[in-house]
Amino acid sequence: MPPPRVSFEFFPPKSPATEAPFLEAVARLVRLQPSFISLTFGAGGSASARSDRWVRRLLAEAGTPLAAHVTCVGGSREEIDCLLASWHEAGVRHIVALRGDPPANEEAPRDRYLNALELVQALAQRGEMEISVAAYPESHPKAESPEADLHVLKCKLDAGATRAITQYVFDPELFLRFRDRAWHAGIRKPLVPGILPVGDIDSLVSFSRRCGASVPEWLLRRFAPARGNPALTSQLAVQTANEFCETLRREGVEDFHFYTLNRSTTVEAVCQELGLGGSLEEAA
Ligand SMILES: Cc1cc2nc3c(=O)[nH]c(=O)nc-3n(C[C@H](O)[C@H](O)[C@H](O)COP(=O)(O)OP(=O)(O)OC[C@H]3O[C@@H](n4cnc5c(N)ncnc54)[C@H](O)[C@@H]3O)c2cc1C
Repeated sequence: MPPPRVSFEFFPPKSPATEAPFLEAVARLVRLQPSFISLTFGAGGSASARSDRWVRRLLAEAGTPLAAHVTCVGGSREEIDCLLASWHEAGVRHIVALRGDPPANEEAPRDRYLNALELVQALAQRGEMEISVAAYPESHPKAESPEADLHVLKCKLDAGATRAITQYVFDPELFLRFRDRAWHAGIRKPLVPGILPVGDIDSLVSFSRRCGASVPEWLLRRFAPARGNPALTSQLAVQTANEFCETLRREGVEDFHFYTLNRSTTVEAVCQELGLGGSLEEAA
């Protein structure tokens, strides 16, 4: 079996102290020749300025295709259009088009793209960029129903997105059932599973609760002996992600999207087992 295609997601570093480790993680993972790397978007003020700055820097320095995330609820149409135009001018050719979450205690601009579908429609009309969108194997936490959620996904893909990247899942069965449901709903474009290598299990549980992703009982049992033991956690994280990928590869999945959390070690080890890149020593 040839190695799969991979993509790596990063977030803009929040402080000067985290910039060097971020750039190091990008550089190491770029050596694995991903299809693209992506950079998340922080809405509003300093966060969006940070995203803008790092999009430009990665375009200039990373040496690999870049997908820039954009969320639309925090800005007016004019602001989002302006940002997209300036990114296009700078060389961005791939957008991960998202609604984002409305900021608490802040009035949303009146004339805004209301959801990701409206943003995709606007981007597709301009025809300048490749578009990816988000998908939720366990449904978006605020979805009216799994069917309604899938319908929104189909609309985004029909409007011009070329692929959907999923919220992370740990159970391959969950992804495969989602793929089946999507097929029955008429979705024919690629659904790329999102993979989050497990770090601290307790933080993962509380974070997952907020974004509507389940943490299966078997995963909790597997990581329980690794509490406070980073070496064992890392070893189990590689094993878990690899089992996930191998199961999906046997089912014909050829693309995987890694949520790197700006760290390279675990993702590199997983990718190496998938047959990507040289040995870790060579890359060091
Ligand atoms: C791959 C990926 C990348 C992401 N990157 C970022 C990022 O860079 N920055 C960031 O801030 N966030 C990011 N997110 C999180 C995302 O912004 C949130 O999940 C957001 O709540 C929904 O965005 P969306 O584009 O999926 O929205 P949409 O596609 O517009 O909606 C998604 C689903 O939400 C449901 N829904 C949402 N709101 C309602 C409502 N009010 N009533 C009924 N149903 C509703 C619908 O079922 C719909 O299918 C990412 C998520 C994923 C999976």
